[in-house]
Amino acid sequence: DIALLWLRHDLRLADNPALAAAAGYRRLIPLYIVEEPAPRPDGAAGRWWLEQSLDALHQELTRLGSGLVCRQGDPERILSGLAAEHGADVYWNRRYGPERARDKRIKEALREAGHTARSYPGNLLFEPWTVATGSGTPYRVYTPYWKAVRPRLGEVAPQPAPAELPPLPAGLEADGAPAVADRHPWTAKLDDHWVPGESGARSRLCAFAGAPMADYPESRERPALLEGTSRLSPHLHFGEVSPRQVTAVALACIEEGHHRDGIETFLQELVWREFAHHILFHYPATADEPMDPRFADFPWRDAPEDLAAWQRGETGIPLVDAGMRELWATGWMHNRVRMVVASLLTKNLLLPWQRGAEWFEDTLVDADLASNRLGWQWAAGSGADAAPYFRVFNPVRQAERFDPDGEYIARWVPELAPLPARWRRQPWATPSGTAREAGFTPGVTYPHPRVDLKSSRERALAAWHQLPAFN
Ligand code: FAD
Repeated sequence: DIALLWLRHDLRLADNPALAAAAGYRRLIPLYIVEEPAPRPDGAAGRWWLEQSLDALHQELTRLGSGLVCRQGDPERILSGLAAEHGADVYWNRRYGPERARDKRIKEALREAGHTARSYPGNLLFEPWTVATGSGTPYRVYTPYWKAVRPRLGEVAPQPAPAELPPLPAGLEADGAPAVADRHPWTAKLDDHWVPGESGARSRLCAFAGAPMADYPESRERPALLEGTSRLSPHLHFGEVSPRQVTAVALACIEEGHHRDGIETFLQELVWREFAHHILFHYPATADEPMDPRFADFPWRDAPEDLAAWQRGETGIPLVDAGMRELWATGWMHNRVRMVVASLLTKNLLLPWQRGAEWFEDTLVDADLASNRLGWQWAAGSGADAAPYFRVFNPVRQAERFDPDGEYIARWVPELAPLPARWRRQPWATPSGTAREAGFTPGVTYPHPRVDLKSSRERALAAWHQLPAFN
């Protein structure tokens, strides 16, 4: 009559199927394991979030009569040890990445030892093996995937949180959140931008429901707007809100008469997250290798100084630097700008997409193996359903279209703010009189562009054309 609930990226009480199953026992052990070795260790921003989120979860568990138990080490050993010690049955929500084979082993070992061990679908709308093309193969292209799953949206209603929880077994004390974050000043500033935890996630979702969600098709393309997109990504990554809950709110907005097209667009983006997990599950090698094998021998450059300038937001290309500095300051970057900075790195700078993905995984609070690697492969042109390699974003034109008043650039690259909007996005072209008036000295107050956009674009296209597969 004791249940062990293994919590991972499902740090919430509502709509948590494993918790709902385990909550029927007389005693419950809500367990978080700091995995060592971890299949893919979280980056610095992710660990900052995790620590806060676990703390919020511990508070909530305590309020309902329970508390968080933490252990550090190998999950296989810890789970079997605790299950044996307490004669417990074990519950968890499934994950779909590199931990799968291990999780399967754990389940089998627990069952062999006589425990009930059950896993549940808590983190996705559609488990990867439940969606297939007419011929039974996995999808590789997004639009048909979306068409296949759209009719199924909303088929499972989210469940409410339990009103109370069984206590911990006698003699077992709650530990509270483990210290997993770096004590680095960099992470302290993340406090100004985020409220990790289930109630922070709920507030975000409530704030975005209704008019902002209906306006999404226009507002999502404006990186300067703070509320143009939902900013739910880190909450979804850590499972503080489930995609079922987000979908239910979106479908309710349609029922209430909000602009259907807007909300459908939002749902399509939410389903990109599903698609990313679908791809990583069916093609696990794409976490590290190009999905399109023609890119296996691509002549990427090795240029650590260019990489460092990109990471620091000192490329001299304003929209790119604004994005990289937004990332450094807040742990998040607008989707449009993610595409632009990724294009600059992989095309104009000709650096491997994996280097960009690694930096994002260290600095994004929403860093997620499936979505990040899919996003990078998309940008690099090597993904399944990717932007073609020859589509090189022009960061000046992108800024003109999506940051027409130069507000986003001025916020994150303040040394360019005194320039008129037109020159903020291409300061190298500023007439000398205007530059003087604005106190702008190219190469002194702001770096010269690290690459010439035109010739570096041609270099990228030439590299691509040299691949035997393209001749
Ligand atoms: P909204 O526009 O409000 O969308 C709602 C939700 O839908 C998001 O929270 C997210 O869960 C999902 N979503 C939206 N767009 C995408 C997408 N293109 N792919 C997958 N899911 C999506 N997203 C991550 O969650 N983690 C990552 O590590 C990540 N890395 C990326 C790297 C690159 C190079 C690119 C181009 C995109 C990446 N994305 C990643 C996708 C996207 O940029 C973010 O999900 C989005 O910006 C998060 O902001 P939001 O919550 O306001 O999104």
